Amino acid sequence: MEIPFIDADYDVQNWFARAKGMEREPERGVRCTECFDMRFERTALYAYEHGFPIITSSLGISRWKNMEQINDCGVRAAKPYDGVEYWTYNWRKSGGGARMYEIAKREAFYAQQYCGCIYSLRDSNEWRVSQGREKIEIGETWYEQKLSEA
Ligand code: SF4
Repeated sequence: MEIPFIDADYDVQNWFARAKGMEREPERGVRCTECFDMRFERTALYAYEHGFPIITSSLGISRWKNMEQINDCGVRAAKPYDGVEYWTYNWRKSGGGARMYEIAKREAFYAQQYCGCIYSLRDSNEWRVSQGREKIEIGETWYEQKLSEA
């Protein structure tokens, strides 16, 4: 769609350093606050350095996420920068969640079965095993699998 994509960074060492001591925190807990802070801080700095007045995130569209927690992190990250604001838009409004699923299924997007870090993968697998289910297969395209079963 010719929308420029910027990968500001992928700093795994910094992430592990910030997550230290929070390895057993649940999703939506303090480790996730630290994780959002890290990403938004980088985004806010990039916005400031490149003259973007507004930043936001689509993370909150997921029903697994706490919108207030995400918005708090975004607002905190933008605060030090004059002229940069975090947009606390509620992406779930007006059928946004259903629209997300519709597009993701239609385009057969990769739908990851855990949040993203190794701790969320571990916790999701522990829960699955406790429910008698198979562990997550990394890279498994859930939507494609569902479409092929349909
Ligand atoms: S990847 Fe997800 S579960 Fe892991 S710390 Fe970040 S927000 Fe939390």
